[in-house]
Amino acid sequence: MLVLVINSGSSSLKYQLRDVDTHDDEASSRAVLAEGIVERIGFEGGPSDHAEALGHVDAELAAVLGDRTIDAVGHRVVHGGERFAEPVLVNNEIIRAIERLNPLAPLHNPANVLGLRAISAKWPDTPQVAVFDTAYHRTIPERAWRYAVPDWLYTHHGIRRYGFHGTSHQYVATRAAELLGLEPDEFDGVVLHLGNGVSATAVQAGKSIDTSMGFTPLEGLVMGTRSGDVDPSILVFLGRQGHSPDEIDDLLNRQSGLKALAGSNDMRAVVEAADAGDRRAAMALEVASYRLAKYIGGYHVSVGGAKAVVFTAGIGENSAPFRARVAERLGALGVVLDGALNAVPSKEPRVISAPESDIPLLVVPTDEERAIAEATAAVVRPT
Ligand code: AMP
Repeated sequence: MLVLVINSGSSSLKYQLRDVDTHDDEASSRAVLAEGIVERIGFEGGPSDHAEALGHVDAELAAVLGDRTIDAVGHRVVHGGERFAEPVLVNNEIIRAIERLNPLAPLHNPANVLGLRAISAKWPDTPQVAVFDTAYHRTIPERAWRYAVPDWLYTHHGIRRYGFHGTSHQYVATRAAELLGLEPDEFDGVVLHLGNGVSATAVQAGKSIDTSMGFTPLEGLVMGTRSGDVDPSILVFLGRQGHSPDEIDDLLNRQSGLKALAGSNDMRAVVEAADAGDRRAAMALEVASYRLAKYIGGYHVSVGGAKAVVFTAGIGENSAPFRARVAERLGALGVVLDGALNAVPSKEPRVISAPESDIPLLVVPTDEERAIAEATAAVVRPT
């Protein structure tokens, strides 16, 4: 079965064509028949809209497809609100429902809707599936998703914690269980998605029961350019100082995090600078790893004792120095890193803790496109 995975941004359209029946874990890349990105949509020199961008994708795919056809299209959709707990087959009503969630994800959902509409128009007979970043977190209990604020903020504005990166957390939790020889629903642990966006999820019996991102992807951990947790009064203070909502949004989402603390949002550069004696870079790593360790300790309690702590995404998979800094702070949980295992670069799921570690540390590469393609196939396949 051939699935086209679409990740549609406001001015870009990323695609990957996958054969979901090719199970080649050693080189999962063999399942990928084509991939690419069309950028500058709506800008000078770029395609005028998503429909035109899709024309470019179509031309690229034609060469690869030959006489085969695309069986289904899987879309990454950022916000599924309270309604979507699972991937769904798309129809007009579903697209309108996603559109109604635009106020909750004003940068992402409108772009996802453009992608959904462009594909419906171009390939009306090809089934499309929406896979939501929030869906995995729909099992979070109310005690964890409620903010302690007046009820109308929730009932009127939908202000509650939703959580993001769900497709990645679910995929990684499932692979981590496999690595430990457990069924997915036997897995209790903490999954750390450490990329440009950073989030931690508390997984109990295979389900998300808490996660560090909240109403938006700004809450929680220190990220590439996002602050994560701050005292909300800081926003009020800045507003009273005359900063506009847009300025405050930009400050916390694009001018903060590692970029603010160390001058770069690239973890490699920050580690190199710290090793070369840059005090700000060293402190940035301390702030980020300290806050992460605090969340891991909290989630260890939330899940009733983690059976593993799992690292994934750009930093989690590749930055041995950052993993080591986090592991060092987990001594109170009886965690013991194996420095040699941690240092070996690999694309495989693996254990990086010592045998005597009370909680195993794992590295499990994420693959959101694969997860979206498989979820899409599961929805459209006749049962
Ligand atoms: P992602 O959002 O998952 O693509 O991750 C992006 C982050 O991963 C950036 O902060 C990169 O600096 C970081 N990253 C990617 N490769 C490496 C590497 N080899 N060592 C350290 N950090 C890396």
